[in-house]
Amino acid sequence: MQAAVLRSFDLPLQIEDVTLAAPRDREVMVRIKATGVCASDLSTIRGKTGSDLPLIPGHEAAGVVERCGPGVSKVKPGDRVVLSWAPNCGQCFYCQHSHPTLCDTYVGAAVSGGLWDKTSRLGPTQSPLNHYSCVSSFAEFAVVPEAGCILIPDDVPFAVAALVGCAVTTGFGAVVNDASVRPGDSVAVLGVGGVGINALQAAALSGAETVIALDTNPAKAETALLNGATHFLNAADPATPDALRALTHGRGVDHAIECTGRPTAMSAAYALTRPAGTVVIVGIAPKGTDLTIPAIGFPGSKKRLIGSIYGGGIPESDITRILSLYRAGRLNLDTQIGARIPLSRVNDALTWLEQGVLARTMIEFP
Ligand SMILES: [Zn+2]
Ligand SMILES: [Zn+2]
Repeated sequence: MQAAVLRSFDLPLQIEDVTLAAPRDREVMVRIKATGVCASDLSTIRGKTGSDLPLIPGHEAAGVVERCGPGVSKVKPGDRVVLSWAPNCGQCFYCQHSHPTLCDTYVGAAVSGGLWDKTSRLGPTQSPLNHYSCVSSFAEFAVVPEAGCILIPDDVPFAVAALVGCAVTTGFGAVVNDASVRPGDSVAVLGVGGVGINALQAAALSGAETVIALDTNPAKAETALLNGATHFLNAADPATPDALRALTHGRGVDHAIECTGRPTAMSAAYALTRPAGTVVIVGIAPKGTDLTIPAIGFPGSKKRLIGSIYGGGIPESDITRILSLYRAGRLNLDTQIGARIPLSRVNDALTWLEQGVLARTMIEFP
């Protein structure tokens, strides 16, 4: 099959002919139809997360089941599926304690660059390529754990399903599961990007009265307001903290959702949250950086500072719920998709992402 391979952090992705082994026990081969280019792909490709090479990136994807390995009962060839980038085992400590996104089996696989058994199906046996988050969708096909396949209704376009596979679920879940926003609350979303847009929509859908979008790029105001923000503030403006407090009875917001991955924005999210409020950190910071907050005030602030990965809930049920809301017209996902390109132009999509182009680039396969 054709795949985009990362062999060096200093080189563009290379389109190569790659061998793909048959699915093993409880694994599924999926023909990829659409895969989004996400900021996490970009961080990995630029070497900010310290991944082992060579690998095939791509983790926000949907497609059609091509072939099933032994013991697969959840899906059959021809089924339309979205892929989870954190397929969980259901058996380990974290799966049994309501934190499936922390699944030991999945995390072990992701760190190893393999699937659940920590071996690769990509490339010849003597020189395998690493999988990326048990997906590796910058390729015509992927072999994934059965648990990573989530059925999608026939009327949901593959590109929309792919988007729900990462950005939508991450932003939606941060608001609904981790912040538990309630009607009448105030919410700040830092970073109007692929995830932040979905945090804004989820805050509006949850009945938040005040939804404040913050970004250092004022050109993002229009998009923020179209996606549920009631206000937009320029995060680079020194007057912004006072402006935010003026919108929240002088207290700060009930919930801040940090979606930029910049440690300075994480500190700002903490500072902009009212006492006893909730700070949710979603953005992935570069390896080796620290988050700093004033220690002296922390006990008395009673703030909750929590990390959120993949929406913090049960990805499979969240994805199913989000697709239902989309079909009911309650979430606007179509306008989040921008350019649709073939795999051969994947490096263009990475450049656009670095330049801050807002809409998601979708790689589509005929
Ligand atoms: Zn992603
Ligand atoms: Zn598990």
